[in-house]
Amino acid sequence: MLAEISINITAKALQQTFSYSIPAGMKVRAGSRVLVPFGSRKEEGIVLSIHEDTEAATRTFTLKPILAVLSDQVGFREEMIQTALWISQYYLCSLADALRLFMIEKKGISQRTCVEAVPDAVALDGAEALVLDYVSRHSHVEKKTLEKHFAPDVLAGLYSRQVLRDYLYQQNNVADKLETWLSFDHADTEGTLKRSPRQAELLQALAQSEPQPVSTWVQKGYSHDLIRHLCAHGFARLTEKPSRTVNFTHALAADTPWQLTEEQQAAVETIQRDQGGKTYLLHGVTGSGKTEIYMKLTADVLARGGQVLVLVPEIALTGQIVRCFVRRFGNDAVVMHSQLSKGERRNNWLRMANGESHICIGARSAVFTAFHNLGLIIVDEEHDSSYKQDDVPRYHTVEVARRRAAYYGCPVILGSATPSVGDYYKALQGEYVLITLRERVLHRPLPDVAVVDMREELARGNRNVLSDAMVALLTETLQKKQQAIILLNRRGFSTFVMCRKCGYVVKCNTCDVAMVYHKNQHRLRCHYCDAEKDVPLVCPSCGSKYIKFFGTGTEKVEEQLQLQFPQARIARLDQDTKARKNSGDRIIEAFRREEYDILLGTQMVAKGHDFANVSAVGILSADSLLNLPVYWAGERTFQLLTQAAGRAGRGDIPGKVVMQTYAPEHYVIQCAQKQDYQAFYEQEIAYRQELLYPPFHQLLKIVIVDENEKTLWETGNTLALLLQTWKKESASDTAIIGPFVDIIKKVRNKYRIVLLVKGKDLTEAKAFIREHAEFRRPGVLLDVDSAG
Ligand code: ADP
Ligand code: ZN
Ligand code: ZN
Repeated sequence: MLAEISINITAKALQQTFSYSIPAGMKVRAGSRVLVPFGSRKEEGIVLSIHEDTEAATRTFTLKPILAVLSDQVGFREEMIQTALWISQYYLCSLADALRLFMIEKKGISQRTCVEAVPDAVALDGAEALVLDYVSRHSHVEKKTLEKHFAPDVLAGLYSRQVLRDYLYQQNNVADKLETWLSFDHADTEGTLKRSPRQAELLQALAQSEPQPVSTWVQKGYSHDLIRHLCAHGFARLTEKPSRTVNFTHALAADTPWQLTEEQQAAVETIQRDQGGKTYLLHGVTGSGKTEIYMKLTADVLARGGQVLVLVPEIALTGQIVRCFVRRFGNDAVVMHSQLSKGERRNNWLRMANGESHICIGARSAVFTAFHNLGLIIVDEEHDSSYKQDDVPRYHTVEVARRRAAYYGCPVILGSATPSVGDYYKALQGEYVLITLRERVLHRPLPDVAVVDMREELARGNRNVLSDAMVALLTETLQKKQQAIILLNRRGFSTFVMCRKCGYVVKCNTCDVAMVYHKNQHRLRCHYCDAEKDVPLVCPSCGSKYIKFFGTGTEKVEEQLQLQFPQARIARLDQDTKARKNSGDRIIEAFRREEYDILLGTQMVAKGHDFANVSAVGILSADSLLNLPVYWAGERTFQLLTQAAGRAGRGDIPGKVVMQTYAPEHYVIQCAQKQDYQAFYEQEIAYRQELLYPPFHQLLKIVIVDENEKTLWETGNTLALLLQTWKKESASDTAIIGPFVDIIKKVRNKYRIVLLVKGKDLTEAKAFIREHAEFRRPGVLLDVDSAG
């Protein structure tokens, strides 16, 4: 039998795999992490498949054997390999990178340089013999350890004569895994029994007992090295058992389902009738009760013994949906997020893989969880930009979710009040099933939105960031002891610092952006690289003292609000206040308990929250994103405004919104005022069609970064030329645009340029790019279906 193996270093050749033979008796299966010889080294690989060696007769060389099994990836299934293959193919990343998405611990694999001895080495002096004895008595001796014990010249002599050689050894540290159990796994133990009495002893003990935690054996005096050695040779096996601990120790009062509204009921029934796993776009206005629909369908799946995956944009800010599910379903739910400890993460993963838990709630990366019996995937706030990963591999969560659901034949629900234009288009084309909820629950009205033209405000002499209408709304709200949310999409105090005499703007030393003044620390900060600087007392350029702060960030608004409403209790939520552990969720929950009157913040305040006592929403600068030179500026703005407005009037009190803008005539502002998705969509899709933007054309963004501006452009031009030549030769109508300077010219001392590939179908362009090593140079970033 043969094993087809993906090796980590094949990052260079995107999907190349290698064949190895499987030694008799070794237990290998798809998903196993194995150690294989690769050139002169040993490397870790992941087994993709196992099959008959049909070419054995014609092969002119012998395949090398797998050396050892490092570990089994728990719950690894064929389906995951297929999805990883698709990811690497579609998003132009290496197969190894795509496979790693499905690993429990992505970074937990430790890598050490170890040393091995060549057996039967001849003519050693006394000192050398000692080294060799030491190496052969231990498995996986670290090079560093050896250097500690023995003289450098002795070792150097051994290396140069190739009596010793080093190799890379990667594996999970057994000691980290207290929940790892060890069991006996082999019938024929003759060979090793003779070699080491200690091994024989442990094997015998294992054969006679039930699996026990590794720690038990270690306590009995068997070393980790010894255990590893047995496992590596297939005599014993490490399995992992989730611990009994539960996720939620704090008791939450159980709740009972609502009596569904007619619209909710109809939506539920449509999805209940699903056969074969379609994708449903659940477009429901803010406050239409989408969560209740998710929970009803979840209950159905649980009743059949299936599992449900619930994806949310950012777990720290959407603790509310977690609470809803936990109230309803108790400890059957596990939560996956980045602040879990390694053990908690592993535990939750195992519970899902074994089928012990049935609901998994998490952000983007939870889409890679191992499932036992997946019955439904829910993507809440499906339009949220956090679903597109902006690091390698740059996958889109919705696409991965649909791939995985297809294997389980289960439906996917994409829920949003402001669906992504691309997904709405797909729904209208019939690729998704469109379900619309037109009304809020209990016929509650949508909030009333007033638009304030800030140019007029200025003409009337009001230079304040708060318009008169805004002040009036807040005054009224505070008087009635109701709550308000204020959105400003810029953190910090002032957005830039400029010399009034010469126009000098203080920029970051390593990024081409203005630094932002943070009054709390009285420092300037770069929002791209986090660098800090002192505020200059005199202009660094002309020496004048006329340094002035321009622009308004959340910090400044907080100060102004406090001046204007001294009695109001104000909470600020942005990247700066959220940074402290869990504090995003803490601020939101304190606001829910009405410990604050005003919640002020960046787009985080607009995300899906359901506060019953919020009757007012103020949007300070509605058009802050609108003028970005990117095709999705209008879409992102409409979503942000509509979502923000939708936080008002969700309880018994009707909501009011004031929206400040410099562009009241813009269709995005007007549609957001009416919270009219259809009207927005029609204008937006017409514009996309005219300019051939997604969803009509696909977009591949190639970003090139380099410290040296000259080589940067050389790379850019080389890649452009390659693509142009391909285009001509293949008579493709794909557009190759650029290279041009990126929106931000330089970040962290690296210059950035962009090359765009745009076309109706980029399959062939991508195939070309995959085959050419130039596109895999360091500093060349490939972003398929770019939204950045
Ligand atoms: P959405 O996610 O669509 O914006 P939510 O799911 O947050 O809306 O629901 C809004 C509010 O309405 C929540 O407080 C929820 O408990 C409540 N709700 C949901 N369904 C019903 C119903 N059928 N009857 C009464 N209230 C409901
Ligand atoms: Zn100056
Ligand atoms: Zn910077």
